[in-house]
Amino acid sequence: MNKKLMEQVGGKNSMAFGKSNAKVYVQSSQGIRFSDVAGEDEAKESLAETVDYLHNPKKYTDAGASMPKGVLLVGPPGTGKTMLAKAVAGEANVPFFSISGSEFVEMFVGMGASKVRDLFKQAKEKAPCIVFIDEIDAIGQKRSSGGGMGGNDEREQTLNQLLTEMDGFEGNNGVIILAATNRPESLDPALTRPGRFDRRVPVELPDLAGREAILKVHAKKIKTADDVDFHTIARMASGASGAELANIINEAALRAVRDGRTVVTEADLEESIEVVIAGYQKKNAVLSDKEKMVVAYHEIGHALVAALQTHSAPVQKITIIPRTSGALGYTMQVDTGDKYLLTKEELENKIATLTGGRAAEEVAFGSITTGASNDIEQATKLARAMITRYGMTDEFDMVAMETVNNQYLGGDTSLACSADTQKDIDRKVVELVKAQHAKARQILEQNRAKLDELAKFLYEKETISGEEFMQILTAGGDKQ
Ligand code: ADP
Ligand code: ZN
Repeated sequence: MNKKLMEQVGGKNSMAFGKSNAKVYVQSSQGIRFSDVAGEDEAKESLAETVDYLHNPKKYTDAGASMPKGVLLVGPPGTGKTMLAKAVAGEANVPFFSISGSEFVEMFVGMGASKVRDLFKQAKEKAPCIVFIDEIDAIGQKRSSGGGMGGNDEREQTLNQLLTEMDGFEGNNGVIILAATNRPESLDPALTRPGRFDRRVPVELPDLAGREAILKVHAKKIKTADDVDFHTIARMASGASGAELANIINEAALRAVRDGRTVVTEADLEESIEVVIAGYQKKNAVLSDKEKMVVAYHEIGHALVAALQTHSAPVQKITIIPRTSGALGYTMQVDTGDKYLLTKEELENKIATLTGGRAAEEVAFGSITTGASNDIEQATKLARAMITRYGMTDEFDMVAMETVNNQYLGGDTSLACSADTQKDIDRKVVELVKAQHAKARQILEQNRAKLDELAKFLYEKETISGEEFMQILTAGGDKQ
């Protein structure tokens, strides 16, 4: 922005800053309570103390205890951090001030620090109250890092002001600051020092029971048919966040409306999982018959390799209806529960399953296509992790060759070894994937008749259920 324009804008809006923007911050927490937040029991437990303090500060001051001034909610996007902060305000029945870290720095130059000052001034007037700063990493990044982006000074000034404000008030004056981030490791250590955000509450992706609970909370807003089994839906939505689960319920309701119904069925929900996870069904994508057949073999390849290796999860559904996400087919596997530990063998089986699509193309057509690109990426990642992070080779034993930078954002990694070792790692990754690919091909060759039968069945029906798949697989002889 050039200076003249800035003056204009600043001049025009200068009245909007300072006291008059009070309404920007104060928000009703709309009566959100802990009971509205499904699962996340540990986070709620940890925040219950804050609520208790706001209810009864005397109990704490009498004992000479002071509450942490700042609580950092840490976890992936959409897991309910904002909801939890609102619920603390709702439970304690105190005002809720909310602002996103990015708002501080996206405003006009020089406004960040004064916004912070203004926010705290108002909060102190309204105490006891909750101040919630979402995406605190936008202002709270390590001061040394950051380079590249302009407006760095601006961010530093804002951060410094925040630190000054936090130091300037006593823990017992009734202002509790909650902040959320999914990049805890990028925060400036000054922010997490004692007396600032010294309490950290992890807010993780929901497990199976948590997902079921979240689905049920959101399903209260819609009418569901008697056949709906939330346990199954929760199992199918493995890895989904609370926000995604809320979205799954809403998409299912929209689908019912499109069909002229008011009651949401199990089929709506299953379809909606795929919509949310894999993108909308591409109604007008036209695959040639030959392509459709290749995709059918490819998907059956994944499913067969998965099913014939004892440790792989059963198949829920296989479809060759293309998705807008670009996937031409889709094999939905169901984990029988949330697994926190995977054995080396299970990981190898996963890689074999990922290579099963390509292997089926080779076995059936003797030629290969671009259809396996995503499988290749995933198999490579897994194989790499086994070697560099899980210590699953004799050669490198329990030595970390890579370290994870951020456990919440896709787990990107940094190498921690010499160039020579990198060569060895690359070679090991190839060996590992190659061995599993060969295993997958062998499984499919040994079960060629089933492969053909199932691929033809899928080609004709386009979508088949896990039960149909298992029926054909286990019918007659030719079993492994
Ligand atoms: P975050 O702040 O962690 O990104 P939000 O609190 O904004 O996540 O959650 C977004 C939406 O997802 C919420 O409004 C709610 O509809 C849904 N949601 C997320 N987690 C939960 C949960 N544990 N229980 C119920 N709903 C949830
Ligand atoms: Zn595939």
